[in-house]
Amino acid sequence: RGTVVLAATPIGNVGDASSRLVALLEQADIVAAEDTRRLYDLARRLGVHVNGRVVAYHDHNERGKADGLLDEVETGACVLVVSDAGMPTINDPGLAIVRRAIERGLPVTCAPGPSAVLDALALSGLPTDRFCYEGFLPRKHADRVQRLRSLQSERRTIVFYETPHRIADSMDDLLSAFGPDRRMALARELTKDYEEIRRGGIGEIRQGVIDDPPRGEIVLVIAGASEDEAREMAPASLSVEDLAVLAI
Ligand code: SAM
Repeated sequence: RGTVVLAATPIGNVGDASSRLVALLEQADIVAAEDTRRLYDLARRLGVHVNGRVVAYHDHNERGKADGLLDEVETGACVLVVSDAGMPTINDPGLAIVRRAIERGLPVTCAPGPSAVLDALALSGLPTDRFCYEGFLPRKHADRVQRLRSLQSERRTIVFYETPHRIADSMDDLLSAFGPDRRMALARELTKDYEEIRRGGIGEIRQGVIDDPPRGEIVLVIAGASEDEAREMAPASLSVEDLAVLAI
């Protein structure tokens, strides 16, 4: 039997490609890539020849493609799964094949590497011992407000992915949900020439976004609520006595 290998690819700096990624690109029987053109571009920049078959494996076809790829694993193939940047499955394709591999009892492993979540978290200067990853905020204002409300009493550091055209609206909603003084970091263009980390209160960072709109790829890292904030924001909890009354 072969194996499925999820491999992280650079999020900007091609020098972050691991030697294991290079070897896998050369040796895998099949490379399932989110965007085949971007895969060949990465291979060219790494000076690697992709010897295996390259197939498109993206959000729209991953469920349909997973079983066919796993049939090949069953007959001995090494299937390498890569996304456009960073770790597959983290707001990128990959989950469908991992799930099906587990269900079918087929081996799946990972060649880890860059991911914007951990890069931004580590550079934020905010607590890293407990954090939650929230991916992209919803596009619709009402849904975004609701999501942020549900996070108001979150004690862990919170990480969001963001895009330049939605950052201004998101900053307004973050300000309403968490107030101007909550600490945060805005990390952009990580590992690239124009890498920049802005750190400060939400009010200050929001003003900076208005004065000097950040371009490129963005991660937002928000400090968790303090004990007092969490208590204030949390819906009043019921006492044992209240619960006993409700149970009657
Ligand atoms: N799988 C990727 C990972 O592991 O980080 C994430 C893919 S997701 C489709 C793309 C988002 O990741 C971007 O919109 C941005 O929020 C974040 N991102 C990716 N590369 C980044 C970089 N170099 N600097 C800052 N954020 C980045």
